[in-house]
Amino acid sequence: MQNDPASSRDSRYDVLFEPVQIGPVTAKNRFYQVPHCNGGGYRDPSSVARMRGIKAEGGWSVINTEQVEIHPTSEIAPFIELRLWDDDDMPSLVRMVDAIHKHDALAGIELCYNGMNGPNLYSREVPLGPQNMPIMTFTYDPVQARAMSLKDIRNLRRWHRNAAIRARDCGFDLVYVYGAHGFGVIQHFLSSWSNQRTDEYGGSLENRARLLREIIEDTKDAVGDKCAVPVRLLIDELMGDKGLTNNEVRDVIGMLGELPDLWDLTHGSWDEDSGTSRFKDEAAQESLVKGFKELTTKPVVGVGRFTSPDTMVRMVKSGILDFIGCARPSIADPFLPNKINEGRVEDIRECIGCNICVTGDMTGGISRCTQNPTFMEEWRKDWHPELMQRKGASSNVLVVGAGPAGMEATRALGLRGYDVALAEASQHYGGRVRLESALPGLSVWGRVSDYREQQIIKQANVQTYFDSRLDTEQILEFGFENIAIATGSTWRRDGVGRQHLVPMPIADDANIFTPDDLMNGRTPTGRVLLFDDDHFYIGAVLAELLIEKGCEVSFVTPAATVSEWTVNTLEQGFIQKRLIELGADIHVTKNVTRVNASSVEIECTYTGRIEELAADSVVLVTSRSPEDSLFLELETREQEWADHGIKSVKVLGDAQAPAPIAWATYAGHRYARELDEPDRGDAVPFRRERVGMATR
Ligand code: ADP
Ligand code: SF4
Repeated sequence: MQNDPASSRDSRYDVLFEPVQIGPVTAKNRFYQVPHCNGGGYRDPSSVARMRGIKAEGGWSVINTEQVEIHPTSEIAPFIELRLWDDDDMPSLVRMVDAIHKHDALAGIELCYNGMNGPNLYSREVPLGPQNMPIMTFTYDPVQARAMSLKDIRNLRRWHRNAAIRARDCGFDLVYVYGAHGFGVIQHFLSSWSNQRTDEYGGSLENRARLLREIIEDTKDAVGDKCAVPVRLLIDELMGDKGLTNNEVRDVIGMLGELPDLWDLTHGSWDEDSGTSRFKDEAAQESLVKGFKELTTKPVVGVGRFTSPDTMVRMVKSGILDFIGCARPSIADPFLPNKINEGRVEDIRECIGCNICVTGDMTGGISRCTQNPTFMEEWRKDWHPELMQRKGASSNVLVVGAGPAGMEATRALGLRGYDVALAEASQHYGGRVRLESALPGLSVWGRVSDYREQQIIKQANVQTYFDSRLDTEQILEFGFENIAIATGSTWRRDGVGRQHLVPMPIADDANIFTPDDLMNGRTPTGRVLLFDDDHFYIGAVLAELLIEKGCEVSFVTPAATVSEWTVNTLEQGFIQKRLIELGADIHVTKNVTRVNASSVEIECTYTGRIEELAADSVVLVTSRSPEDSLFLELETREQEWADHGIKSVKVLGDAQAPAPIAWATYAGHRYARELDEPDRGDAVPFRRERVGMATR
């Protein structure tokens, strides 16, 4: 899996494998993993180190950390990133650098001073920013930043310089200066929206860029002989003249273009930068980045959820980018560069732009990926994204259900060398993915099934049987040694969910629809009330579908916002805007208490006040029932298993407990990894690290 010049690479992609000089260091190709969070940070240093090392193994020439807090006056608890506050934080970073260097890649560190983006909930230090102003975070923390004095600015420069020296001593090859995504203090100083200072750091663009200039110069002076100094800068705050415009950023690069060793360009807010495929296409930032290369001789890196090598080549050949910056595509497939190099483009596990990875960081859990179930399990569970251990004692497996759980189990079991039969009731691969990817804005999600289909059909030891709805008798008769039940779930028709733990009152003549009805082509007409007690994406997507089909839609949710949980996928603002613009009649903080034939009773979740809304039909998006009857029946007949040669029966994915698609691919993968492995009993099912206790 090494980069091999004599490989069967398509010569069209040769340009992607050219080395590029970045100041004092050289990147071996143009595949550049830009900084990205992972939910592990300082809590899970070995997980993060292995994850980055795997990407180096997969062929990326530059691998960066997530943002690294440089000082306790600027930390972003509850979000878990890396820290370099003092020497004690260095060992975990050294581990990461070593893992990256082992595979001949460059290690970069994104030093960050959050300023007005860090409420300092953990350190209790007073936040500092360009001016006195409230902290700007995802939650409205009731804390203000204090305007930095000139002495504070001198302190900040010293802290950044010290962090740069520590980073160099950890072995990093690139030491970043960061001002993008609304996170770095440099952006806050640059923008006339957040900087209304009247001293030499405010006013003109030259003054607002003074801190950036000084910090670049400090960093170059401190470590520039050995380390490259890239700047990660926003390309637009998207506030019009109120904030930093794309033209002003071009002027900044006009002034400082030759100072750093590389320009890494991205958006002024994370939501815009990491837009989901529902709202942003591949290469969505192209127009905002185009022309920057004419302002500097230094290499330029940009992002755009690049998964197509042809788009990557176009970015380089048309003079827009020198490096193909990837965060999510490198998460979904850490071996993307090697696969292009080896002429295996069809094996790329393309990112679907769902932002489940982001939710790990947003929730304080740990990141996971819909497409790559091994992400952040590389160290915890010793899972490699490309390699499976050889099969264990048994020889064959029957997987029932070709949804994401069943398909991933089949793919991975096949790689282990088992004989696998995949039985699917319908005539198609994909299960829920096939249905959901036909909904507005979700077509890219089809890649979950497409990738696995590609991988399954080329394995001679795997057979798929369509039109095969199996029952218990058949499964017992077939006598496979291992049975994996991945039969999915069904949306409930009785309104049971978070608001109603028992069926809600529904009139016999009411027209009730479920998401399954809509996805299978049974759609209502006229006035439709959609009750979303699920709070993730599907309710709003179905509302969009109904509006497309000409329905008048009332969207009712007990939450304060539409699709409330999508704040964690950075989509909530885009979703609510879309529904408003499409003309949906939105009712927040409302519960449905009764469904009549042509009206629905809704209740204010605070006051209990009742209203009646006219509706010809109601779509209930409340919760799902696992399709586990096959599993339960097999369990009750356990005494018959041995006679039929059956050793194990397991239920996985939505059939076990309905959840997002990423949970299903993970469940399928886990099943394949653990088959025939020793039972770990009550042991914690993964490795973890504990806080190092002080000696006293
Ligand atoms: P998951 O997300 O857990 O993979 P899905 O609902 O996406 O679940 O997929 C479940 C798949 O199982 C569907 O394609 C469905 O047609 C199939 N299926 C359900 N019951 C049976 C059965 N008894 N025999 C074979 N296939 C089944
Ligand atoms: Fe891409 Fe979704 Fe994986 Fe994130 S979780 S890398 S968006 S496929």
